Amino acid sequence: MHEMSLLQGILDSVTPVARENHATKVTKIVLDIGVMTQVVEEVMDFDYKILTEDDPLYSGSELVMNFLTPRSRCFDCGEEFEHDRFHLKCPKCGSSATMLLSGRELKIASIEIDTPDDVDEP
Ligand SMILES: [Zn+2]
Repeated sequence: MHEMSLLQGILDSVTPVARENHATKVTKIVLDIGVMTQVVEEVMDFDYKILTEDDPLYSGSELVMNFLTPRSRCFDCGEEFEHDRFHLKCPKCGSSATMLLSGRELKIASIEIDTPDDVDEP
């Protein structure tokens, strides 16, 4: 599936940030993932290990996934509602003319890194 390429893109974004901050290690990556992306948590975990286990910057790090509930708006009555991946109809009027407001996002919420000197104040 597309998890491997998604993860590769995420690592490509995190690595320069970690380097800029003089990280010796990335210890944790937290992702916000809309469930409409159809990303599978188990596959992400598995692929993440494959991609990172031989990389000293990432080895032993943790991938945390927050799955976000999708929201849609009904074109017919204006109702905004949350739903799961399979139920897109308006709960108020039953219309299927709805627009997805959120649920396809996949973004890095935060990263945690180790740096050689945690305290570096004058
Ligand atoms: Zn409606």
